[in-house]
Amino acid sequence: MKTIAFIGLGNMGAPMALNLLKAGHTVRVFDLVPEALNKLAEEGAYVSKSAKDACINAEAIISMLPAGKHVSGLYLGSDENNNGLLENLSNKPLIIDSSTIDAETSIAIHKACEKLGLDMVDAPVSGGVAAAQSGKLTFMCGGSKQAFAHAHDVLADMGLNIFHAGNSGSGQVAKMCNNMLLAIHMIGSSEALKLGTQNGLDPKILSDIMLASSGSNWSLEKYNPYPGVMENSPASNNYEPGFMVDLMAKDLGLAQDNAAATNTPTPLGGLALDMYKQKQDQGDGQKDFSSIIELLSQN
Ligand code: NAD
Repeated sequence: MKTIAFIGLGNMGAPMALNLLKAGHTVRVFDLVPEALNKLAEEGAYVSKSAKDACINAEAIISMLPAGKHVSGLYLGSDENNNGLLENLSNKPLIIDSSTIDAETSIAIHKACEKLGLDMVDAPVSGGVAAAQSGKLTFMCGGSKQAFAHAHDVLADMGLNIFHAGNSGSGQVAKMCNNMLLAIHMIGSSEALKLGTQNGLDPKILSDIMLASSGSNWSLEKYNPYPGVMENSPASNNYEPGFMVDLMAKDLGLAQDNAAATNTPTPLGGLALDMYKQKQDQGDGQKDFSSIIELLSQN
């Protein structure tokens, strides 16, 4: 068992840290929000005053933060005084960043780790809050074979499917592609459900039919956007996240930036980003991303 520092205890980080505790690791936690820390303390985690404190003599550091600027600030520092974690380590922990961020920022952190002789994997996840809670996340990892082997057992305490996507940043590229597809099938499922119900169909019966037919997909199976169809889904809980519109818009932006840089046509990804931006403009950034179905009710 390891001593692990876990930074970022939001919708995903909190249940992931909890599974590490359940697996028998010693877990030191830090988040900017005190309530997030209190919850984990009740479950046996050690609360730290800062990310640096959490990392003292930790054998592994795991971060689960919103976006690239937060991850870069944590590891590399946000000013010229090198106040990042990496410059202040007293030992050589394994570094795992599970946040969804741009591959460039991830590669910059990989390079800084390499200089210090640290193993690092970018290990973004898929599966949502339910998979984080049940320890059944999919991890898509980027980094050396050695770093992947080093990280595997810790990741297995939080996930079911653990893939080595390739070199530094490859996990982030795989995640970017996956989430562009997720947005597209969430919007497609929403459109089909709206069209069916406008024609008088029951959304549950239509969902069952499509799930047994060629329209079946993850959004429909695990995350139905129509209120009342699926117990415990964000849609049946006023679109409480879950996975926020703001985060989906961020991920779609990463995909569009990359598509422009690599000259790859992604017309549906572009349209999905426009729709999620529209949802943000309506003040719904903090709602779950399945609330995109609400756009389809408006003129
Ligand atoms: P969240 O906003 O719920 O949680 C992020 C947490 O990080 C918050 O508690 C925040 O206080 C904390 N934080 C921010 N800056 C910090 C800092 N400098 N130091 C310490 N803590 C800090 O987000 P989430 O839904 O848990 O998502 C986290 C990451 O995982 C994102 O990159 C997201 O895109 C990705 N992701 C989310 C889901 C999902 O279903 N929610 C699924 C897959 C991937």
